[in-house]
Amino acid sequence: MEDLTKIADGDKKETFLGAWPYYDLQRKIEYKAKEKGIKIRYINPAYTSQRCSKCGYICKENRESQEVFKCKNNSCGYSANADFNAARNISLNDI
Ligand SMILES: [Zn+2]
Repeated sequence: MEDLTKIADGDKKETFLGAWPYYDLQRKIEYKAKEKGIKIRYINPAYTSQRCSKCGYICKENRESQEVFKCKNNSCGYSANADFNAARNISLNDI
């Protein structure tokens, strides 16, 4: 999950209020995960939606739309659902 503790500290009121539902959801997920013995890992979300999960190429244009990811690296061309690609990047743990 993304580390939202800095937002939750309330540096910026609007950001804090906007992020609150996610922060609240994270606390509930953490609680349930702990109950079941599941480890939570926090990641830096930077570039997870722009990075190709197949070749690692990072480019803003890789994200063609909200739904479509298409790698602009000529030797790759990997295409996938944008959320799926971002989830793969997060799971790879090398970003
Ligand atoms: Zn690629």
